[in-house]
Amino acid sequence: MTGPLVLVVEDEQSMRRFLRAALESHDYRVTEATTCEEALRAATSHNPELVLLDLGLPDGDGLSLLERLREWSRVPIVVLSARGREQDKVAALDTGADDYLTKPFGTGELLARLRVAIRHAAASGPTGEVVATVGPISIDHGKREVRVRGELVHLTPIEFRLLSVLARHADRVLTHRQILKEVWGPNAQTQTHYLRVYMAQLRRKVERDPARPRWLVTEPDVGYRLRDGDKLEPP
Ligand code: CA
Repeated sequence: MTGPLVLVVEDEQSMRRFLRAALESHDYRVTEATTCEEALRAATSHNPELVLLDLGLPDGDGLSLLERLREWSRVPIVVLSARGREQDKVAALDTGADDYLTKPFGTGELLARLRVAIRHAAASGPTGEVVATVGPISIDHGKREVRVRGELVHLTPIEFRLLSVLARHADRVLTHRQILKEVWGPNAQTQTHYLRVYMAQLRRKVERDPARPRWLVTEPDVGYRLRDGDKLEPP
């Protein structure tokens, strides 16, 4: 089989069997996870081209898994949800899911949704990388580790998310509102003081001279930009 690799995250065995049979008979490759932890490991080690995600998992909420995947990955995610849980679907889409399927669904519907999700993803650029390198900074999303000039630096979860968001849009200016929304959520879009505080902390950990930042650059009155050294002229 040579088709796209799909990560199926589902704890119900009968559902996994159905999904695997449906996908493999249409040339998709399948890898499976039954818990949030397994799913995170599989996502970072196998780099799937699509994730099918059941929201009810034994060791946690599919939504928090979705949130963690979206910190670093743009892989298309289609959520599997039980009938009548409309609020779950809205929350999943708000958190960054591409689509949802309501159980029970047939093979035809499943394959149609997958094709659309994969096509959209292909049109909107590459999926996230497990290890992202921007300038002197390397971010390992699997291990949640950050190195600056080869040295391991300890970041708080918020600092990690902030750096991940900036790295995902390296060399692009992000507005305060965009960053606040991605790091703290939609209710924090006007809380620019959070951002100032955390950006100052992050600069102290990343920059040689935090007062004259070279990588985490302020765009006056607009927002911030993480410079990508590869695209800069030599200093
Ligand atoms: Ca389940």
